[in-house]
Amino acid sequence: MHTSALVLFSGGQDSTTCLADALSRYERVETLGFDYGQRHRVELDVRGAVLERLRREFPEWAPRLGDDHLLTLDVLAQVSESSLTQDIAFAMQEGGLPNTFVPGRNLLFLTLAGALAYRRGLDVIVTGVCETDYSGYPDCRDDTMKAMQLALSLGMDRRLVIETPLMWIDKADTWAMAERLGGQALVRLIVEETHTCYVGERGQLHDWGYGCGRCPACELRRRGWEGYAG
Ligand code: ZN
Repeated sequence: MHTSALVLFSGGQDSTTCLADALSRYERVETLGFDYGQRHRVELDVRGAVLERLRREFPEWAPRLGDDHLLTLDVLAQVSESSLTQDIAFAMQEGGLPNTFVPGRNLLFLTLAGALAYRRGLDVIVTGVCETDYSGYPDCRDDTMKAMQLALSLGMDRRLVIETPLMWIDKADTWAMAERLGGQALVRLIVEETHTCYVGERGQLHDWGYGCGRCPACELRRRGWEGYAG
């Protein structure tokens, strides 16, 4: 029986929903974020606000929410040319992957999460990857996660479970899941505090949250909201 989890927490809608899910099921939950030279630091900036508001508005979860870890990964920008880390426009690349794809990113994140989980004595790694809203990222696939779970468990000689609560649901279901876990209070928190937009825009609050409203991430988030709220 697992009692503790490490949640990969970026400050976005998906990882915040995963964090709430973990807090509802595990006695001890820690969070992990990565600073890999994102073009926009706003996701990193909102992480603290989300954690603070979770602690304040969900007293039953607050005692379970432990340390937050932030690891710096300058190395990713050194090995990749992605529109997430460099000042280039979004485009599809040859082979059908968007240029927001950072090759190996999730593999690296999970490896480091495994090392941290090992050191902190945490049983489960939770990540918000999803095949349903699949942006074509091969490192979000269920098979990739299962392979990583096996590699980490063998390589650390300790059973580490990778959980992906959003793997088979779409963005509308992710909003519904948040409501189920924490009611309208959690839905409001996610709308108002989390950040998804690729462009880093946080000027105007839409029904579905902040964002430019035009980039692929905003479009996905808005369509999901419309599917959920009707
Ligand atoms: Zn946007």
